Amino acid sequence: MPSDNHRAFIGIGSNQGDPVFQVRSAIKAIAQAADISLEQTSSLYLSPPMGPSDQPNYVNAVAMISTSHDSFQLLTCLQGIERDHGRIRSIKRWGPRTLDLDILLFGTESIDTETLRIPHEGLTERPFVVVPLSEIAPDLTLPNGECVSDLAARMQSQTLTRLRED
Ligand code: ATP
Ligand code: MG
Ligand code: MG
Repeated sequence: MPSDNHRAFIGIGSNQGDPVFQVRSAIKAIAQAADISLEQTSSLYLSPPMGPSDQPNYVNAVAMISTSHDSFQLLTCLQGIERDHGRIRSIKRWGPRTLDLDILLFGTESIDTETLRIPHEGLTERPFVVVPLSEIAPDLTLPNGECVSDLAARMQSQTLTRLRED
């Protein structure tokens, strides 16, 4: 990895318009994006919705990338991919969406602004983030000092189904 590249993890989610297709298509778009190299992707997981429960289940995955973008450029790029996948931002927090791309970690950066917070706020509380993250980077140390695979092991009992690839 060149020294000006940053390793980042992206959380991917969809529960509208054929979620499996949307997640796979998002992974392709990330792989094809300029100045981003896709290093690893997790399996796809089915998870119950967070927040409002009157919406379909989600399909989630996590991707590991390296990029020469800075974190704000990466956010802009990911929001472009969300838009290309028909994402309309609603006022309803955690409402249904065709595609959600969140920057979970960006190197060891810690950012706290209106538009960007890294590490992502839900990182250690959400099984649909921790379990796929642990699948592709089991030795990763989280910002709280805990190894991601230890945290994932504690979360296994919660509702999350790994989808079989066909
Ligand atoms: P959550 O972030 O709790 O998963 P969400 O993904 O549904 O909720 P969005 O509607 O996708 O939230 O994004 C709301 C705003 O969050 C975006 O406009 C973006 O500026 C901001 N944001 C802050 N930190 C991040 C991050 N790490 N990754 C992506 N967006 C972020
Ligand atoms: Mg999100
Ligand atoms: Mg988001």
